[in-house]
Amino acid sequence: MAQAGGGKSKNSRTAVTTQKFFCSCGGEVKMKELFQGGKRKCIAECLKCKRIERRPTDFI
Ligand SMILES: [Zn+2]
Repeated sequence: MAQAGGGKSKNSRTAVTTQKFFCSCGGEVKMKELFQGGKRKCIAECLKCKRIERRPTDFI
């Protein structure tokens, strides 16, 4: 790739910390923390249809 486009850094938004996921119904998927049996468990829930999956990528 040639250098083009001026002085904007391309390194600032490579992290996947705040990536958004969307359910097949179009609703936004949010991460949730549950406590089950004394253990903390992360699940992903669709705000629209309330579908719950173990990972946000399971909605796609
Ligand atoms: Zn949904």
